[in-house]
Amino acid sequence: MHPPSIDRLARAHAASGLPHATLVRLARRVVAGTAAEDVADAMATEVQHRARRQALEVVNGTGVLLHTNLGRAPTPQRPADRYSNLEFDLADGQRGPRAPAVTELAATLTGAEAALVVNNCAAAVMLALAALAGGRGVVVSRGELVEIGGGFRVPDVLAQSGATLIEVGTTNRTRPADLSEALALQHAERPPVAMVLKVHQSNYRIVGFTESVSVGEARALAPPEVVVMADLGSGLLDARCPWLPGGPPPWLADEPGVAQVLAEGADLVAVSGDKLMGGPQAGLLVGRADLVERCARHPLMRALRCGGATLSALERTLTAYAERDLTGLPFWRLATTPVEDLRARAEAIAAGQPRVEVVDTVATTGGGTLPGARIPSVGLAVRGDLVAPLRAAQPALVARAADGRTLVDLRTVFPDQDEAVAAALAGALGDHGAGDVAG
Ligand SMILES: *Cc1c(COP(=O)(O)O)cnc(C)c1O
Repeated sequence: MHPPSIDRLARAHAASGLPHATLVRLARRVVAGTAAEDVADAMATEVQHRARRQALEVVNGTGVLLHTNLGRAPTPQRPADRYSNLEFDLADGQRGPRAPAVTELAATLTGAEAALVVNNCAAAVMLALAALAGGRGVVVSRGELVEIGGGFRVPDVLAQSGATLIEVGTTNRTRPADLSEALALQHAERPPVAMVLKVHQSNYRIVGFTESVSVGEARALAPPEVVVMADLGSGLLDARCPWLPGGPPPWLADEPGVAQVLAEGADLVAVSGDKLMGGPQAGLLVGRADLVERCARHPLMRALRCGGATLSALERTLTAYAERDLTGLPFWRLATTPVEDLRARAEAIAAGQPRVEVVDTVATTGGGTLPGARIPSVGLAVRGDLVAPLRAAQPALVARAADGRTLVDLRTVFPDQDEAVAAALAGALGDHGAGDVAG
């Protein structure tokens, strides 16, 4: 048999919408690794697989608002197909600071003197440690030496930054006296303390016989030259939620806000842009202007800064907060949709489909935030495990299977995706008949 023509094989799949160069690459790989008679089938499988790996719209039926695998917070994206004034001062025609409107908004919304934007919160923490505590000591409570999903471990980040970890207290209890002892201790082998780092227990809780030192207490105990920094992670800008007509929802419970932590005495706060802030992947450092300035001037800044598309998405998110405009804050809009609205939508979706049932569910924030939060919600249930066929729908519907049924939670579905949910359910039930499974 002649070796199949790579080009012909690639062209045969032009309708997939994949770029020709990608198809050629796939065809080469398939031809090299497959017996000639199986090439056509193998290529079709490869193309199908690859087409599903493009950036695609997905319907999030999981009820996890900040689903890390689904991009955490949904953010309004505007294609950046024009030039922008990214680093250009339109007033004087000179090179200007990067996105000054973003940092100004972040400072205004949190009551900080200044702000700085980097790639993510991990980068913000790393930069602040390197710039403000490199070669010196950082005091952290043993109850806060955390790991955030994806391998962000506070002790490792600290080591990478060139700072030395000084652990105080125990896993469940750290007292003000532990902190003052560590601050007072003069030790030949220990570098001087540059910072007290408070790490928010974003994705876990220690309950029971516990005690911790608050940011305010830390600020009162530490000498003025020691920086008190809070790694808040989760990114709630203001615990009063002034952008929500009804104020903070009950499930936010005691989540600290950046504004409050700064008011309590933190010199610097690091937060994530795509957790409770509901913006694009980014990290913010807000706080004292002199400290933000030192971080901005550190050589790592160049490597950790983010690009124009992120900055413009963040600017729109922060502007929506400033204008209390929920349409620009999809995360908060989804999170606070009244349960009755979800139920009405669920009933409309289930109307023509006898095997689809409307059920009460519990949604969560996810994304390594608010571990105990339970957000009342409504979803659609069908018997059997339809997770895979729903995922194969166009657009893909990500659902969860539990207790012999498949659940699509409407808390995380945008209203204009309801039709897609109905179609995906009808398709999956029709094709697979899992709804017939006796139970
Ligand atoms: C999530 C989190 C981080 C990491 O944030 P990314 O933006 O994902 O890098 C760091 N610290 C805390 C406390 C967090 O909750």
